[in-house]
Amino acid sequence: MNKIEHIGVAVSDLSKAKALFDTLFDRQGYKSEEVQSEGVTTHFYQMGESKIELLEATKDESAIKKFIEKRGEGMHHIAFDVSNIHSEILRLKEAGFIFINEIPKKGADNKLIAFLHPKSTGGILVELCQDAPK
Ligand code: ZN
Repeated sequence: MNKIEHIGVAVSDLSKAKALFDTLFDRQGYKSEEVQSEGVTTHFYQMGESKIELLEATKDESAIKKFIEKRGEGMHHIAFDVSNIHSEILRLKEAGFIFINEIPKKGADNKLIAFLHPKSTGGILVELCQDAPK
């Protein structure tokens, strides 16, 4: 794994959260993007070589909606940049890690992503992400 690509933060009201984090970081986000397959709207801040991703649910079945109902708003996942997501998935599966989705899917910000189950990663929801081939 190369670096922390981004940290995902679950929010219940994106426009309120934007105002809060704009002030906290003293800058504006560089893009908002809806990811229909995940039922979320995302909003990104560049923080050096990493990012903060705000996530707001767009439908009731969204994992973000369920997360907030159970645990409230806050840190949701850590995403690590990998050079080759397919070989990294194989390596981690062989090492016994459990994936939520072991077939990479398209995430926000032109990435291929896969999530590991927190029960196999010390309680942290881990996302692998690789720049999607153009
Ligand atoms: Zn993410």
